Amino acid sequence: MSITWHILGAGSLGTLWATRLARAGVPVRLILRDKTRLASYQAGPGLTLVEHGIAHTYPVIAETSDSPEPIQRLLVACKAYDAQGAVAQLQHRLAPDAELILLQNGLGSQDAVAAQLPLARCIFASSTEGAFRDGDWRVVFAGHGYTWLGDVGHPTPPLWLEDLHAAGIPHDWSTDILTRLWRKLALNCAINPLTVLYQCRNGGLQAHACEVATLCAELSELLECCGQPAAAQDLHSEVTRVIEATAANYSSMYQDVANARRTEISYLLGYACQAAARHQLNLPHLQQLQVRLVEQLRVRGLPQD
Ligand code: NAP
Repeated sequence: MSITWHILGAGSLGTLWATRLARAGVPVRLILRDKTRLASYQAGPGLTLVEHGIAHTYPVIAETSDSPEPIQRLLVACKAYDAQGAVAQLQHRLAPDAELILLQNGLGSQDAVAAQLPLARCIFASSTEGAFRDGDWRVVFAGHGYTWLGDVGHPTPPLWLEDLHAAGIPHDWSTDILTRLWRKLALNCAINPLTVLYQCRNGGLQAHACEVATLCAELSELLECCGQPAAAQDLHSEVTRVIEATAANYSSMYQDVANARRTEISYLLGYACQAAARHQLNLPHLQQLQVRLVEQLRVRGLPQD
């Protein structure tokens, strides 16, 4: 019997992972926010995954952080701004050599969690899979993609990648996971904030090509300065390609703002601007972008961090 996967956060990605692992017979337990959420979950039949329009429900066992069992493997599926606090609530249950898989977008939250748990193995993930909740405990698998996993400290892949294989979760072990995360962060910084400011789909940025190009030049300079030259390579052409390929889509940040949800700005554009400040780099367009985005969030009454 393989080790139980504890899944912290039964949102979009947490459910996407939990249901596929459970479907493959891998032992899974959900850790929910509190007793109220647990009662709501237990009043229903389980977690539902909608794939290709067909819904399947899996009766995955759930608990809160108060349960006594030790945790050996933890998939952290919260938003970046919740990850550190949510893991702290579980710290007393983590085995000394526990393994954590961190699914958060952007950068900053992974280091914060790792610093909190110096003995644990923290594996960073970068995913192009897409999912959204269309009801409580119900998730739609919207975009098939890939997940790269890597460990900044230890290049050896863990044996449990077998579980992901069995569950049909497309993945690869990456020895340059930080480069992947930086690249994704740069793509996000070049596209997402502008879609909020111009209130447009990704394709709407074709009308702001000069601004996008200037941001890409500054982001490339930042990546080089942060020791990530591979993440800087051909950034502008990839951004242009993504804008074209996803022209009809609304960015995740656009959707967060449109639905009055907190954004992950501090782990994306905010992280980039902080890194620039640390390196005493003057990136006026990127910094101005952050000022404009924060102002937009303030006007809409949303958290500015
Ligand atoms: P989400 O749907 O908002 O799910 C986050 C879940 O975390 C929620 O269910 C929330 O509980 C739970 N949570 C927060 N604090 C908790 C705590 N203390 N204890 C237990 N549960 C807690 O978010 P998501 O879309 O899955 O995103 C997760 C991360 O993956 C983000 O960093 C995101 O950028 C990244 N990502 C997402 C996608 C995607 O397609 N969704 C793709 C790639 C990357 P409640 O339900 O009680 O609020």
